[in-house]
Amino acid sequence: MAQHEDESDRSGEPAKMAPRLLAGSCQCGAVTYAVADEFSYALNCHCSLCRRATGSAFKPFAGILRSKLRVMSGEDQLKILGTPDLHDARCGLCGSLLYAVVRDGDYVHVTLGTLTDTPTIRPSAHIFVGSKADWFTITDDLPQYNGHVVRA
Ligand SMILES: [Zn+2]
Ligand SMILES: [Zn+2]
Repeated sequence: MAQHEDESDRSGEPAKMAPRLLAGSCQCGAVTYAVADEFSYALNCHCSLCRRATGSAFKPFAGILRSKLRVMSGEDQLKILGTPDLHDARCGLCGSLLYAVVRDGDYVHVTLGTLTDTPTIRPSAHIFVGSKADWFTITDDLPQYNGHVVRA
């Protein structure tokens, strides 16, 4: 399972006043979640694991402290693929990939496609472009990285 290392590590962040909450859902609606609109980073991952996990050209996702995401309904339907601190969480009924727990369990990577609401953040780069599907052409001007994002 891919584990992405990205951007700032901000554990120990002070609690903020009532952040805006974004709703998310699987395809069938059995599992819903709420996540703070406080993502630390957002990226489009073209690695083969993300392509297969989503059945798509790439996986747009956004990272946030795990404590800022809460499953609101259908928690008993969640299918956890992996270990407690490194796994993909899918709806056990429809199979939607909702989020991945990464970085020793401290962060979740929320699949932007399962958000019902629009987050403030936008993907800032394409990563793992080295394993991009040949049939897909990136047509935007975002920076591209062959592997993990490299910070300047
Ligand atoms: Zn579902
Ligand atoms: Zn990936």
